[in-house]
Amino acid sequence: MSQELNLILLGPPGAGKGTQAARLVQDFNIPWASTGDMLRTAVAEGSELGIKAKGFMDSGALVPDELIVDLIVERVRNADSADGFLLDGYPRTIPQADALAEALQGLSRTVTAALLIELDDEEVIRRLSGRRVCTASGHGYHLDFDPPKHEGICDQDGSRLIQRDDDKPDVIKNRLEVYHAQTKPLVEYYENLGLLRRFDGSRGQTEVHDHIRAAMATLRLEETV
Ligand code: AMP
Repeated sequence: MSQELNLILLGPPGAGKGTQAARLVQDFNIPWASTGDMLRTAVAEGSELGIKAKGFMDSGALVPDELIVDLIVERVRNADSADGFLLDGYPRTIPQADALAEALQGLSRTVTAALLIELDDEEVIRRLSGRRVCTASGHGYHLDFDPPKHEGICDQDGSRLIQRDDDKPDVIKNRLEVYHAQTKPLVEYYENLGLLRRFDGSRGQTEVHDHIRAAMATLRLEETV
């Protein structure tokens, strides 16, 4: 019996993966890796990875597998991931999933579950196009669901709010096409392995979180029988 939780979050952009990840790492006390955040940091720092990744990210395309696979393989091999981890935004392609499986196999481990947060395209567009972030601290807002008190200004530190380049309408369209073409096949991949758990991302954040927690509790019970 293993109590490890090696989790991955799947779903279209804007489904709430980052929000749920932040809650789940608290619940289960496991480290969280977001490839999108890792890449944005690399771009901001102007590192070699960032320079290579920027053009792909700005257009809504995926960064090539070879740039991202080693980052994650290293992450799951890290000692702090020994009791589990949560990956947000990885894998995005079948070769990335295969590389993860191989790295875990080398450690005599496997993915415990793939948590899919589902959301239809129309809602993805509505959510992403209203998203705004604080230039200083990264605090997030939404023009419809969580607007700042003063337009364009962060409530917490008064900094300017901007729209991420990849949340602009043309890029959102590309990101969705890329999701359907390259990432959606992972749903079947993990379903065939019996690892997929589906959640309705159109529900509120707390409700989605409750559903995921309930599913995880069942999963842990299954592991003990
Ligand atoms: P995200 O914040 O997860 O939507 O990621 C932002 C952008 O980073 C994506 O649109 C991709 O260009 C890139 N990216 C993030 N994760 C991956 C990945 N696993 N494989 C390739 N590109 C990625």
